[in-house]
Amino acid sequence: MNDSEFDAIIIGAGVIGGAVAYELARRGHRTLSIDKGPGAGYGSTSASSAVIRFSYSTETGVAAAWEGLHYWKHWPEYLDADDERGHARFVQCGMALLIPGEEGHHNRVMPLWDRLGVPYEFWDHQALAARVPTFDLNLYGPPARPADDGFWSDAHGEMVGALFSPDAGYVDDPQLAAHNLQRAAEAKGGEFRFRTEVVGIERDADRAAGVRLADGSVVRAPIVVNVGGPHSAHINRFAGVFDAMRIKTESIRHETYHVPGPADMDFTTNGFAVADDDSGIYFRPQPGNNILVGTTDPPCDPKVPIGPDDDLGELTSDGWETNTMRINKRMPTLGVPLPHEKKGVVDRYDKSDDWIPIYDRTDLDGFYVAIGTSGNQFKNAGVAGHMMAELIEVVEGGHDHDADPLQVTARYTGLNLDLGTFSRNRELNANSSMTVHG
Ligand SMILES: Cc1cc2nc3c(=O)[nH]c(=O)nc-3n(C[C@H](O)[C@H](O)[C@H](O)COP(=O)(O)OP(=O)(O)OC[C@H]3O[C@@H](n4cnc5c(N)ncnc54)[C@H](O)[C@@H]3O)c2cc1C
Repeated sequence: MNDSEFDAIIIGAGVIGGAVAYELARRGHRTLSIDKGPGAGYGSTSASSAVIRFSYSTETGVAAAWEGLHYWKHWPEYLDADDERGHARFVQCGMALLIPGEEGHHNRVMPLWDRLGVPYEFWDHQALAARVPTFDLNLYGPPARPADDGFWSDAHGEMVGALFSPDAGYVDDPQLAAHNLQRAAEAKGGEFRFRTEVVGIERDADRAAGVRLADGSVVRAPIVVNVGGPHSAHINRFAGVFDAMRIKTESIRHETYHVPGPADMDFTTNGFAVADDDSGIYFRPQPGNNILVGTTDPPCDPKVPIGPDDDLGELTSDGWETNTMRINKRMPTLGVPLPHEKKGVVDRYDKSDDWIPIYDRTDLDGFYVAIGTSGNQFKNAGVAGHMMAELIEVVEGGHDHDADPLQVTARYTGLNLDLGTFSRNRELNANSSMTVHG
């Protein structure tokens, strides 16, 4: 076999890149995945909180996330391949979307869940208090920082309740999930090259024809897919498609924190994931009675753009103190961990302008993008791979996706997935929450 010519080259072997490679390989395409890292899932996938939830504000967003769950529930069967390291595991702990008042994200989510058949329970204040007696269910929001007076203001009301998704949860090892996809793609004939950097896109007349590597060599393929995570904008620039896209992506720095669970409750066993817009955080159980805390990026928190190859530095004391104090306010029995006990991860989001991903073709024929995953698309890896493979086959078959956006039937739920939602040229989606709960 010729190792410098393939049907499709996938740049990036994170969880989304792995899924694109697997979905193309299982359809019979000869794929090559190229990643400059040492193995699958060493990019932003490795830092993922891997929360699986369905609380999106657009219909396709909810449909994709609900469909995405089914891939995780059927993970080994979906992969149809062993992995010597074992398979990543979905932990179904449920997730509560706290309802601070009559206005809030739940108003967008509930009608969509009703329409699409996503199961949930409405817990009023009493029901929520009974489930989590250790929580302080007073309202202190909107989110503020300990340096602001607002953070220390008295409570101004009580939580209305919560929407509880019993099917939500998290994946225990996101990097392993990417490795699982590598093995699954390889079992269908896909190839992977690591420690190999793509530095240019080859063209034949007006279409993509392969990639140029850092050592000067060229690998040819009529289809190239940018799944470079936080490097997506950089890759789009050298492909010459960045300026023509209405929705842009950028790499921003992001931290999550690990704190010990409360002494009076085994949070790993009895806890569930929580989205708390009143405090500006989300959190979920971690094995060993620990809690993983992420921020919802409330407007008061700084957004920190960072080059995709710039040094990320350590967890900041400011981020640690702000977010451990936020969760401590909601769970007063937690006890604020000491500043020198900082634990967590720091990585990057590949953020799009409206926090919705771009799964699309580009103006360069043969060059596709699965990017802008904005800290919330781990859960959709399988469905994103499926959508991209369908898109690539249909566009290569001559369909004008820009004029007539592809509608994909979801593999497990049969729901309709309108790929126009993920267009590179969409209007900024005003319905987006512009935030994430994992
Ligand atoms: C802190 C954090 C928490 C998150 N929490 C959640 C969550 O709870 N739930 C959820 O659904 N999502 C979450 N996400 C988002 C989710 O993890 C990402 O959307 C997903 O992992 C992105 O996968 P990817 O394959 O697109 O990118 P990546 O995993 O970043 O992979 C991109 C790969 O491309 C490679 N690459 C880049 N440029 C080149 C080049 N020129 N040549 C060769 N290789 C290249 C990189 O080495 C990298 O391995 C979170 C993300 C972060 C950072």
